[in-house]
Amino acid sequence: MKKLTQETEIVHGVHSDHVTSFDLVPPIHMTSTFKFKDADHGADLFSGKSTGYIYTRIGNPTVDLLEKKIAVLEGGESAVATASGMAAVAAAALTLTAPGDNFVACSTLYGGTFALFSSDLARLNIHARFVSHRRSGSLKEIEEKIDGDTRFLYIETPANPTLDIIDIPLWADTARRHDIPLIVDNTFASPYLQRPLAMGADLVLHSATKYLGGHGDLIGGLIVGSKRMIGQIRESHMNHFGPVMSPFNAWLILRGLKTLALRMDRHSDTALMIAERLLSHPRVAAVFYPGLASHPGHSLARRQMKKFGGMIAFEVHGGVVAGKAVMNGVTLCTLAVSLGDCETLIQHPASMTHAVYSPSERKLAGISDGLIRLSVGLEHPDDILGDLRQALDRVP
Ligand code: PLP
Repeated sequence: MKKLTQETEIVHGVHSDHVTSFDLVPPIHMTSTFKFKDADHGADLFSGKSTGYIYTRIGNPTVDLLEKKIAVLEGGESAVATASGMAAVAAAALTLTAPGDNFVACSTLYGGTFALFSSDLARLNIHARFVSHRRSGSLKEIEEKIDGDTRFLYIETPANPTLDIIDIPLWADTARRHDIPLIVDNTFASPYLQRPLAMGADLVLHSATKYLGGHGDLIGGLIVGSKRMIGQIRESHMNHFGPVMSPFNAWLILRGLKTLALRMDRHSDTALMIAERLLSHPRVAAVFYPGLASHPGHSLARRQMKKFGGMIAFEVHGGVVAGKAVMNGVTLCTLAVSLGDCETLIQHPASMTHAVYSPSERKLAGISDGLIRLSVGLEHPDDILGDLRQALDRVP
């Protein structure tokens, strides 16, 4: 059959082989274990002589279907689903390292990832070496930080919360030269807007909690890559540490995914319009959105993304006090962390999602105290803008 467009793959993608009842929508396999036909069948499944399901921590048809679908959408050979986005980050990092190893990461990251990298992994004698891509000569800095114990490179783009755009091919070339993998957190873009594996990355991961699920009703994570690397993560981390995804959450993500293209188009188009209008508001000091020609990563974003996504960061004149007044003044936008939902969400990174950074670490990552992060939802653009405007107009 002719290769399908990505929009069609988003709706169809993969089909369940496990049903005999011809459902259009696959059922949810809410079962912890699976029956063996007889003792030899059970033994054959355990030894790998036969393929099939044994126990949901090891594999489940609904979770399997989601893994196959995200692999198709990201253009990877294989995928594994995890209990949360953080479980995906931890699974990838812990599978690739041992005590004494290090890895090099871009310093602008989701706060939970930064905390895992800078404290929890450090306790296990696995050390993150952070590079600020904002400094000129960042390529030289990456190179200088890599040594014989460096096991992978790690980036997030667009980065949370500053919307910095990190050069995927540049990091991928560097990783290749040193024969180590590059991991890309693709949460902010989704595979509809950006496909890091095609640009040389080795593993792509997601907080599926966000745009993939798309409806704010679940927590989940996904990792995509080669059969070999995903097999390693599944065997050594998922089966034994056990942070697997519930079949119910996998089913919700499969359902949410069907509208990914429509949602990402709408999130992106509305965000661009709002970013442009915020720019001209007298109370707004700065707007960070990769779709704006003034954004330092604009031309790079044009090269590596289809559209610019639904996330905006902005600063209000008057710093934190004025920013808080805006967050307390909105009535349609919801004051909450998370992102990628149907509802527009607003939050303050320095005191919320990125409070784990020290003030100097936040400075290095470009997270100012007055920065406000907006996850643009699917409401009518005029209503979102009207709400932001009335809140900004009332800032004392
Ligand atoms: N990666 C990014 C870019 C995120 O924004 C988040 C959460 O906000 C995560 C990973 C962690 O995902 P989860 O909350 O599903 O554990």
